[in-house]
Amino acid sequence: MHSFDDFRAIVKADEPLAPHVWFRLGGPASYMARPGTLEELLGLLRRCRSEEIPFKILSGGSNVLIRDEGVKALVIHLESPAFSDVAVRDNVVEAGAAVPLTALISQTARAGLGGLEFLTGIPGTVGGALRGNAGDRQGAIGQLVLRATVIDASDEVQVRERDDLSFADRASNLDEPVILSAEFELEKADPEAVVRRMRRIWIVKKENQPYGHQSSGCIFKNPSPDLSAGMLIEQAGLKGAKVGGAEVSDRHANFIVAHPGASANDVLQLIDQIRQRVWQQFGYELELQIQIW
Ligand SMILES: Cc1cc2nc3c(=O)[nH]c(=O)nc-3n(C[C@H](O)[C@H](O)[C@H](O)COP(=O)(O)OP(=O)(O)OC[C@H]3O[C@@H](n4cnc5c(N)ncnc54)[C@H](O)[C@@H]3O)c2cc1C
Repeated sequence: MHSFDDFRAIVKADEPLAPHVWFRLGGPASYMARPGTLEELLGLLRRCRSEEIPFKILSGGSNVLIRDEGVKALVIHLESPAFSDVAVRDNVVEAGAAVPLTALISQTARAGLGGLEFLTGIPGTVGGALRGNAGDRQGAIGQLVLRATVIDASDEVQVRERDDLSFADRASNLDEPVILSAEFELEKADPEAVVRRMRRIWIVKKENQPYGHQSSGCIFKNPSPDLSAGMLIEQAGLKGAKVGGAEVSDRHANFIVAHPGASANDVLQLIDQIRQRVWQQFGYELELQIQIW
C-alpha cells in the first residue's frame, strides 16, 4: 500500500474504473486521482516517480479496455476545468487536454473556424486524440497541430513544436507521460457550413458504427491504408461472433460490443479468436488499436 495521505482530497483507493470507460467493463484502480490544478498533477507525478509507483493517464476512456482484475497503478483522471480551457486567437485555437473533441469542434465553428469537422463522432478528448492521432480516412488530428505542451519524464512542462512532432496511422511521437494542451491551426469558415458538414459526417458515422452500444471504437489497426481490419474480420465470417456477452458488431466488424453481463475477459477472448481466424485465413497479424490495461 502506498500513502497518498497528503493528497487525500483528490486520491481515492480501490476506485471502480468501469464507469469511466466507454466499454463500461473492468475492475478497479488501486488508486484514482482527479487533480484539479497543474500543481496537483505535478505533485502526483513527482510522488509516483520518487516512490516508483506506476501511473496511467485516463481521459475520455473511449480507447481503453480495463481487465477484470483492475489496474494496479495510480490512474490519473484528467477531467477538471484546469485542463479544459479553449482559447481562440485569429485562426489558431489552443485547447486543454481534457476538452472533448465534440466541444472543440463546435466552439471553433462558433468562432468561424473550420478544419476539425472530420473528427465529428469520435468520442474522447484532445489529449487522448493526440496520443493516438485520432481520425479517419479523411485525415487525422496530428495534421492540424502547431505545438503541444506536455509534462516530460522529469516532470518538467515542455513545449513541443510542429517540426519536432510526427504522426502516423493511429500513432504519434507525443510519448511524454502527459499531454497538457495543444494549439491547432484552422481555417476561416462560415459557422453554418461547418455545422452542416458536421451533421453530414455524423449521419454517415451513425449508420456505419454501433453508437448505441458499449464499445471502444475500432479494436484493431488497419493492416495498410487500403486494407481495412473490419473487412478482413467480415470476410472471415466473424460478424456476430460471440464470447459470453461480447459480440463482433454486425454493423462494423472492427467493433466489439459488450452486452449486459459481459466481462472484459469475454472481450479479450473474442479478440484472440478474431486474431487467430484472420491469421489462419488471410495471413495478417492484426495489431491492437485499443489500449488494454
Ligand atoms: C463509438 C466510438 C467511435 C470511435 N471512432 C473513432 C474514429 O473514428 N477514429 C479514431 O481515431 N478513434 C475512434 N474511437 C476511439 C477513441 O475515441 C479515440 O482513440 C480517442 O481519441 C481517445 O480519446 P480519450 O480521451 O477517450 O482517450 P482515453 O481512452 O482516455 O486514453 C487513450 C490513451 O491515450 C492516453 N492519454 C489520454 N489522455 C492523455 C493525455 N492527456 N496525456 C497523455 N496520454 C493520454 C491514455 O493513457 C491511453 O493510453 C472511437 C471510440 C468509440 C467508443
